[in-house]
Amino acid sequence: MAILAMSCVRAFGDRSIIVDPSYAYYKNRSVESIVEEIKANGYDEVRLCCTNESGIDGSLVKAFVDAGVRVWMLTFTNGVYSRVDLPKGWEAWRMKLRKKPDPAGFTMLCPNNLDYRAWKKQQVTAALRAHPFHGIDLAEPQMPAYPGPESEHYGCFCDACLEEFKRLYPGVTRFPDFEDPESEYFWKKNKDLYEKWVGFRVATVVNWLDDLVNGNGGIREKCPGVKIATWSLGLDVPDQLSKLREWQAMDAAAIVRRVKPDVHVIQTDWPDWIKDNLDPNYAAAYKPIFDSVRQVAPSIPIILQTDIGSKPNMRRDTHWIKAVETAARKMGYAGVFHYEYHLGEYIYSDPPTVVNACFDGNTIKLVFNKRLDPAQACNVSNYSLSSGRVDFARVDGNVIYLSVSGAMRGLVLTVSGLSDDASRRLYHDKPACVMPDPIEITIE
Ligand SMILES: [Zn+2]
Repeated sequence: MAILAMSCVRAFGDRSIIVDPSYAYYKNRSVESIVEEIKANGYDEVRLCCTNESGIDGSLVKAFVDAGVRVWMLTFTNGVYSRVDLPKGWEAWRMKLRKKPDPAGFTMLCPNNLDYRAWKKQQVTAALRAHPFHGIDLAEPQMPAYPGPESEHYGCFCDACLEEFKRLYPGVTRFPDFEDPESEYFWKKNKDLYEKWVGFRVATVVNWLDDLVNGNGGIREKCPGVKIATWSLGLDVPDQLSKLREWQAMDAAAIVRRVKPDVHVIQTDWPDWIKDNLDPNYAAAYKPIFDSVRQVAPSIPIILQTDIGSKPNMRRDTHWIKAVETAARKMGYAGVFHYEYHLGEYIYSDPPTVVNACFDGNTIKLVFNKRLDPAQACNVSNYSLSSGRVDFARVDGNVIYLSVSGAMRGLVLTVSGLSDDASRRLYHDKPACVMPDPIEITIE
């Protein structure tokens, strides 16, 4: 039996995590319980996934801020997951890709389209003014796609890109040819044109981010107090600096030099995060990127972003998460943040446990490490007291409220038989996690 003595002391770390409130894990519970759970797991900063600005839950942002948790607005800069905010005529902004349309579930929008830029600037600055965000993550500014021109999603070949390509390189009249090896413009044959094209793609990303942050009506003008985080990619391939430029138009140093962000994020590219047994030390392979940023901005905090469970084969447990955080700090990173909180292996494997307990004379509030199965959590026979009795149990996500009568301070509460809520997970390949033993809690 685990014996805990508790009062209302909260554990704080110096750690950050992505929260995407669109997942089922965050539905049908109070915003306060979401905040309680994130804090109970040692995070004092969140990056809130904002797939459409109009859908931002202001009460969730406020609840985090009220609880002393910094909130970054995480927005995607090369397209949208949700089309609900897009205005009439948005179809003209779509990227034109080599063979296939957008990857499933995502609509790529071209940053060379000035109407898209103006709309995105307005969306972002309005959201930053409406909510008390600490900063903004300008996520995924890359052009498609890994591994370069061979990808069916490679692009963009829209009219706005052609105009901008010609403007940037006078004398250029057309895109390189990516289909016909016999063409004199074929990318593998016409090196001069292809190199200009690669340079143009990198410039597209840098100019876009600079405009969004520092341009007229941009974030710094409209929302001067908001911290800016630019993003680029990390990818473990030989000659990664030039491959990232060539394949995904990513040049971290060029972004940082021009945009002058407060923080730079190196996002783990998907060919790395999908690996089953990714070494927690894997960011060592990103040293050339890290060093390239250091060279242009010697004191900027650099953060590593990683994925902890978008696929069932690569869900990371708390041991791995601690190891990657420790390894990154040793390499000079200011920290790590993970996509996404409820995707980690701990949600599938760790039993529920009490991390905090309070008693105000009538109600005992129990904060758990994770969301609970409501049927068992509401069953009063799972609780017993050394003095008085439990009349009623109410559950709110990871928080249980026990209405008690006749109880004295210093009482001992025994909790048993609870399990987590497996129905709220992304994958349903493991049974619910049950408390292995009763927990005995002395409540001060
Ligand atoms: Zn385009």
